[in-house]
Amino acid sequence: MNTSQRSARVHVRAPGKINVFFEVGAVQQDGYHDVASAYQAVSAFEDVWASPADDITISVTGTVDVAGVPLDDRNLAVRAARLLAVETGWRGGVHLEVRKGVPVAGGMGGGSADAAAALVACDALWGTGLSSSQLQALGARLGADVPFALMGGTAIGVGRGDELSPALARGRFDWVTVTSSDGLSTPEVYQALDEHRTRHAVDIGPAVRSPMVDAAVLHALRAGDAAMLAECTRNDLQVAALKLRPSLSRTLEAGERAGALAGIVSGSGPTVAFLAADAEAAIELQVVLSASGHVAHHVHGPVPGARIVD
Ligand code: ATP
Repeated sequence: MNTSQRSARVHVRAPGKINVFFEVGAVQQDGYHDVASAYQAVSAFEDVWASPADDITISVTGTVDVAGVPLDDRNLAVRAARLLAVETGWRGGVHLEVRKGVPVAGGMGGGSADAAAALVACDALWGTGLSSSQLQALGARLGADVPFALMGGTAIGVGRGDELSPALARGRFDWVTVTSSDGLSTPEVYQALDEHRTRHAVDIGPAVRSPMVDAAVLHALRAGDAAMLAECTRNDLQVAALKLRPSLSRTLEAGERAGALAGIVSGSGPTVAFLAADAEAAIELQVVLSASGHVAHHVHGPVPGARIVD
């Protein structure tokens, strides 16, 4: 690589997320569901380097298993670069080097973070100069979690999860994530939830029409109070993820036995996120879970959304 190419290389870092609250409405005619999500961006990062190229190409490495990541037009980062090129009339290409730190198909929005990072990186590399709201609008076309990966911090998402408003959050929350080697498919988890709701309709009643984030969650985030958040964290997809992957129940029990304030399946799973009282408690929890054979990482939130790294 010569000097001018090196100076043209753009490095962007984007975060994974934990859904600290996730309510899923009834299935709609098009098969989609409205949701209400409280997202927190956490310190598990995707790094993307964009450099000039004739075509749009990608290479992927990582600290997580990247075997399931497509390297063609199915890759969300490639789709993001293509979408930006089409929308801005850009005729050149880009080579994207992705280093993944967010588990693949883990319910932590790693692919969405890559798409967000690719949008920001290509916009800077190509000088297309889109505003953040224009990037947000493109992101929403790529996937429901992409706008949040651009925004970062703590936010509430309604609609498909992409109608975002920032949430006030004080202080820092410490989490321990336990990842699984096999991912779960988001559409399959939603389907399992629909089947569960149909089968148990008499007991659980109809799904809510307009999902909403519980006021207690907003209060706990505003107060920066982990113990308070532990009381009200909830994920409607958890029952479906546990049905598809029963071993996650044992993971949840192991974390709670080891002193977590609460454990929750993140998004569509199978990553389980345990909330700890503080950083010290999280380190202890990580050590205990690792010693019992779990792949456990200590992360914290909130952290910023997709940003250029100098
Ligand atoms: P979400 O919770 O947003 O549905 P996730 O975090 O569970 O997603 P991802 O890691 O984003 O899962 O990927 C889900 C699937 O998308 C993967 O199994 C893979 O086939 C495909 N995919 C496309 N682009 C990417 C990418 N850049 N990184 C990872 N997976 C990708």
